[in-house]
Amino acid sequence: MRVSRLMLVTLRDDPSEAEIPSHKLLLRAGYIRRVASGIYAYLPLMWRVLQKVSRVVREEMDGTGALETLLPQLQPAELWQRSGRWAGYTAGEGIMFHLEDRQGRELGLGPTHEEVITYLATDLLRSYRQLPVNLYQIQSKFRDEIRPRFGLMRGREFIMKDAYSFHANEESLRQTYAAMDGAYRRIFARCGLRAVAVEADSGAIGGSASQEFMVTAEAGEDLILASSDGTYAANQERAVSLAADPISLPSGPRAGGEGEPFATPGQSSIEDLCAGHGIEPCQTVKVLMLLARFEDQSAQPLLVSLRGDQQLNEVKLANAVTARCSAEHGALLDIAPITKEAAASEGLLPLPFGFMGPHLADGLLSNSGHWTKHFLRLADRTAAELSSFVCGANSTDNHLVGAAWGSLCPCPESLDLRAAQPGDRCQHDPSQQLQASRGIEVGHIFQLGRKYSEALEARFTNEAGSEEALWMGCYGIGVSRLAQAAVEQHHDGNGICWPVSIAPFEVIVVAANWAEAEQSGLAEQLYLRLQEAGVDVLLDDRSERAGVKFKDADLIGIPWRVVVGRGAADGLVELVERSSCSKRDLPAIELLETLL
Ligand code: ATP
Ligand code: MG
Ligand code: MG
Ligand code: MG
Repeated sequence: MRVSRLMLVTLRDDPSEAEIPSHKLLLRAGYIRRVASGIYAYLPLMWRVLQKVSRVVREEMDGTGALETLLPQLQPAELWQRSGRWAGYTAGEGIMFHLEDRQGRELGLGPTHEEVITYLATDLLRSYRQLPVNLYQIQSKFRDEIRPRFGLMRGREFIMKDAYSFHANEESLRQTYAAMDGAYRRIFARCGLRAVAVEADSGAIGGSASQEFMVTAEAGEDLILASSDGTYAANQERAVSLAADPISLPSGPRAGGEGEPFATPGQSSIEDLCAGHGIEPCQTVKVLMLLARFEDQSAQPLLVSLRGDQQLNEVKLANAVTARCSAEHGALLDIAPITKEAAASEGLLPLPFGFMGPHLADGLLSNSGHWTKHFLRLADRTAAELSSFVCGANSTDNHLVGAAWGSLCPCPESLDLRAAQPGDRCQHDPSQQLQASRGIEVGHIFQLGRKYSEALEARFTNEAGSEEALWMGCYGIGVSRLAQAAVEQHHDGNGICWPVSIAPFEVIVVAANWAEAEQSGLAEQLYLRLQEAGVDVLLDDRSERAGVKFKDADLIGIPWRVVVGRGAADGLVELVERSSCSKRDLPAIELLETLL
């Protein structure tokens, strides 16, 4: 490809719409353009990157025996009604775009495909002999995200690879899940990404085991908690969801160790609890607030929010004070996911706490982002009252650093906060400190179990001749998010530094002075030779100044730059490696063997 024919439009300045480096660079280097909020055009350079990522994904998926397919994006409401997800995905803060056809039938634009694939399985998978089978597709997904942002990182239309596996038993599901784990690790490594696997919350998708792959980056929206020795890591959403699982308290509310317990023995309602603290319970809001405290001095208190409309009335936290409340008692605070600006304009004050998020109340939002974005609606309480009420709320953004391992320990068997008791510590290494870092979720694998197959009656005949529901797994990779995450990890002050495996072009040949016949002639020759050798090569044939061309080459991030300059007369070229900026002169005839 010739740069003169590439419709290359680069920008000198950072576009104001972009906040993080990868978003700025993809706009500046002419990879993407915004069409509407969360809706982007992938320009030719970007499309090449996405195709390369897809190729890696295909090779690894095919390598595990998975079958590529393509499912409809328009999905009938009926299937989602049968799985029980239609209302949650379409009403209120649901993320599914939905519409009515000319016959008045409701349809949704696929945010994910469990329903459709399970529906197909009811028809196609009849016998254990056909199992296991794993089907995947790479296509656009639609999610009306509450807060689309950071370019391709959180789009409302984005490209996903999603796969769904079907099994005769749980053991077979575990095997495929492990195979997907392996394939994912290879995919991210081949795409040049530093990714870590973390224990994850299954969110609105449901199911039992689930693991996410996080590209570590400052711009990440997720918070990863890891043991200081690196042997264990989890998404903080996981910790929260464990803490928020409803459980029965054996003997009502009780005080929790030293400090300022919120609940004391004998108090059985939220009114009692509030009275004990001199607080009027607010009628307009429906949240139970639970103050909790870690054992450790340096630890932060926990706040768990629950909506009154959820039947989730009994909660206990490890190392925490426990409290009990029933839905009819109303609650103290309303927690709504809104932006800082919106909060300010509504006269709401930010009051950040540890461990909180609307996903505790609403599974649909479980993955919608990070708790720092949430604010307490103060209703008829004053900030002062609240802050004295909520002891020790942390005003910095990182509530989890330094939290004790008492409740989050690297030993999976003691991770379950429900089982933990106040004072518990990591059995294996009490000195382990919880570390927090940011990550971008690029992949997520789930053991779904039989949730969808039971709901949609997808059954098969087992070896014994009787019918049972299929076991299922599902496996997603955000292809477009992955591509941008690669830029987030690989860039410098001059632009993008693509890993060769997913770069739009591997080599760019630049003639310093195109008007010099010797230079342009040799450049053309090398371009041809590289093309013949199967290299993805770009020829900068523009009559721009050399400096302009070098700047563009750096900005768009082609891994190798071959400069044909004055040395052309002696058959010499300069080879520049984008990532290290290292340069060396070499005879043009040696170029191919050096690069290949
Ligand atoms: P998030 O927590 O970031 O909202 P998710 O958990 O909702 O993501 P999944 O349902 O697990 O996402 O989808 C599989 C993959 O699709 C994710 O791991 C992520 O890489 C990608 N993905 C999800 N939502 C988006 C989006 N809005 N834009 C781009 N990629 C996305
Ligand atoms: Mg998520
Ligand atoms: Mg999400
Ligand atoms: Mg996910």
